[in-house]
Amino acid sequence: MKPAPFNYARPQSVADALTMLGEGDALIAGGQSLLPLLGLRMAQVRRLVDISRLSELRQCSETTDAVVLGAGLRHADIEDGHMPDPSRGLLARMAGNIAYRSIRHQGTLGGSVAMADPAADWPVALMALQATAIIAGPKGERRQLVEDLIEDTYTTSLQTGEILTAFEIPKLSAHARTGVSKVTRKSGAFALSLCVAVRDDGRDLSTVVIGGAFSRARRLPKVAQALKMGAAGEAMRSAITTDLDGLGGLDAYEKRLHGATIRKAVEEALA
Ligand SMILES: Cc1cc2nc3c(=O)[nH]c(=O)nc-3n(C[C@H](O)[C@H](O)[C@H](O)COP(=O)(O)OP(=O)(O)OC[C@H]3O[C@@H](n4cnc5c(N)ncnc54)[C@H](O)[C@@H]3O)c2cc1C
Repeated sequence: MKPAPFNYARPQSVADALTMLGEGDALIAGGQSLLPLLGLRMAQVRRLVDISRLSELRQCSETTDAVVLGAGLRHADIEDGHMPDPSRGLLARMAGNIAYRSIRHQGTLGGSVAMADPAADWPVALMALQATAIIAGPKGERRQLVEDLIEDTYTTSLQTGEILTAFEIPKLSAHARTGVSKVTRKSGAFALSLCVAVRDDGRDLSTVVIGGAFSRARRLPKVAQALKMGAAGEAMRSAITTDLDGLGGLDAYEKRLHGATIRKAVEEALA
């Protein structure tokens, strides 16, 4: 199918884009989610505001404690390490497993978070790394943890006229260990189950986040606690069962599937 007719604008800066955005308009970054939706007429827009060429949105910076990554960074930029890395390799490794290289050349960090697909990789990674979104809007800039920004399936707290400009990610210390496990139906597909585990004794941090089959990525507090204690074997198995039971609504197959990805990610972070 063809998209319904729409207008098109290409702002020269974020400030310019902010003045353009109105009711019925949509930002387009990599277009890898929005264009198929428009093509299938599952979404209709009055005007596309194209931010894909704004170099401002690809800027990154670094302080002693954190790295700020522009929301316009493409998955391939992250895979190729064209940014300061707060994650000791976790982000680059995950980027390389998103879709196919041609999609990774277009899809962006900001587009992925704004889309809030429950099976997407970046929301899980950014939650595990405790990232904060930086958002420009008509009333100025605001900041919000990615965890709180993503409310539900395809639903965020972003309001009309707001643009995700960057993500601030606290740096992992040299003591940090990370683990990631993703199960897909075929190579390059969205995750059926995706788990990211971070244990950083240098920052007294332990987080485990699961995505894939839920309405949005979820934290696993008991597993994170067990990871912090260095628990393995029965103690870890029991923590996984408790957290998965707490999520509710999973059938036996789903429990086995997510249990396996969680175990793999956690074992890697404990190794
Ligand atoms: C075949 C295929 C396989 C894929 N596999 C995976 C996968 O395995 N894992 C994964 O994580 N992703 C996957 N994706 C998704 C893809 O990688 C992109 O991340 C995703 O499509 C969104 O990024 P985008 O830049 O293309 O956003 P767009 O499609 O341009 O926009 C998506 C939404 O975000 C909004 N938006 C975009 N940028 C901003 C911004 N800066 N501020 C506010 N709102 C904004 C748009 O208005 C739109 O609503 C896949 C996509 C395809 C087509």
